Amino acid sequence: MQNKVVHAAEKKAFELVIDSILKNLGKDTSKNMVQLINMAEKILGDTWAPSAYDMLRNAFSDPEGKWVKFGTRLLNEVDHDVFKKAFMTLGYEAGFRGYRTSQEMAKKYDCNIPWIILMDPTSACNMHCTGCWAAEYGNKYNLSYEDLDSIIEQGKELGIHAYLMTGGEPLVRKKDIIRLCEKHQDCAFHAFTNGTLIDEEFCEDMLRVGNFIPSISIEGFEEQNDGRRGNGHFEKVMHAMDLLKEHKLLFGTSICYTSKNYKTVTSDEFLDLLISKGVRYTWYFHYMPVGNDASTELLLNPEQREYMYHRVREIRDWTGGKEIFAIDFQNDGEFVHGCVAGGRCYCHINPIGDVEPCVFIHYSSANIHEKSLIECLQQPLFRAYRDGQPFNDNELRPCPMLENPEKLQEMIHKTGAVSTDLQSPETCEHLCGKCVEYAKEWTPVANKLWSKTLEEKATNAAK
Ligand code: SF4
Repeated sequence: MQNKVVHAAEKKAFELVIDSILKNLGKDTSKNMVQLINMAEKILGDTWAPSAYDMLRNAFSDPEGKWVKFGTRLLNEVDHDVFKKAFMTLGYEAGFRGYRTSQEMAKKYDCNIPWIILMDPTSACNMHCTGCWAAEYGNKYNLSYEDLDSIIEQGKELGIHAYLMTGGEPLVRKKDIIRLCEKHQDCAFHAFTNGTLIDEEFCEDMLRVGNFIPSISIEGFEEQNDGRRGNGHFEKVMHAMDLLKEHKLLFGTSICYTSKNYKTVTSDEFLDLLISKGVRYTWYFHYMPVGNDASTELLLNPEQREYMYHRVREIRDWTGGKEIFAIDFQNDGEFVHGCVAGGRCYCHINPIGDVEPCVFIHYSSANIHEKSLIECLQQPLFRAYRDGQPFNDNELRPCPMLENPEKLQEMIHKTGAVSTDLQSPETCEHLCGKCVEYAKEWTPVANKLWSKTLEEKATNAAK
């Protein structure tokens, strides 16, 4: 009872902050945004490194700066109920209340409790992209509505209020996803989607529930994108973005960068196109050679990865760059202290219910159909992750597979986790073997960049 009263009072306090920001819209965006970041820092505690908040505060403190312009545009162009719901679910329920609960639960159960769970509602996909396994799985594997609902119910007990749908194509199950959004209004829902199933009706549904944000996958301009994803995909994505923008919805992109497309997807022209379409953020994912047939040719060489390191920082810098928030999953380890998998910040559940440490690491020894969520989080592989993190003091070498391939092999052997690849089980020796040369070549460049970062941090701390 007392807990419920505290929850209601806290929630009200957060609502007052966001209502005041929305009411004062256009009057002092810079001050409002800094206030929002200060509050986020109090809420999220040490989930993010202090430098991440400083970076954001710097970005928003200049009233004429590009991030203030970004904030103004965001507040003017996004539906206020959607904006408020994102703040309340991601900021309050997941970031503040949920984080606090999850820290207590982590102590109680002696394991990592994630901040967000990624799960595949289905292996099915409506497209047939070159090299993607989803088309071959067909409609074979699904988590039922009841499975998904049960994961969320169990997750909320542990303080987890953020859920990201992956796949397959998650929007093949859009009716069920909307039902979940409706039922769990205290959770934030996201999806990585090919975008082709976003239509007028779905946009209306998204507006009604308010707590669903899609990230649309795209790999470059029409020719490059459709070369892999099939003719007509680019046009469909552009159409989906237009619909989302017209409906004042919040959305972003999810981009896998490779040795072939890294320059295109970070070019001024490409980012200008995304911004004009209403894209607010973009996730960049380093290509991972996962799967028995995965090519190593698409891996970036050290010069290419260094280019990404500098370019993404340039894009989101507080002067210059672009009015879009860019996050590089592999090169931004310094803001989250390295690897976030194994339940430290997140985990992944595949469409047959195997609970995996990371969306790229398909090994497990726990399934949601046989064990409770907390038992799955206590599985030996997740404990090995917790004991091993950070896998490297250099946060530009965060991964136990890509940059430290010996570490994943050690963990798999020690814990007896097995391959959960649904199509063609891959041994960890085969997977990690593809990364050995890459890791060796990247190490000196990563060390050079990391030394510079440490020097800059020391200089800033001495100021
Ligand atoms: S396992 Fe590798 S890819 Fe997954 S979160 Fe950790 S560092 Fe990133």
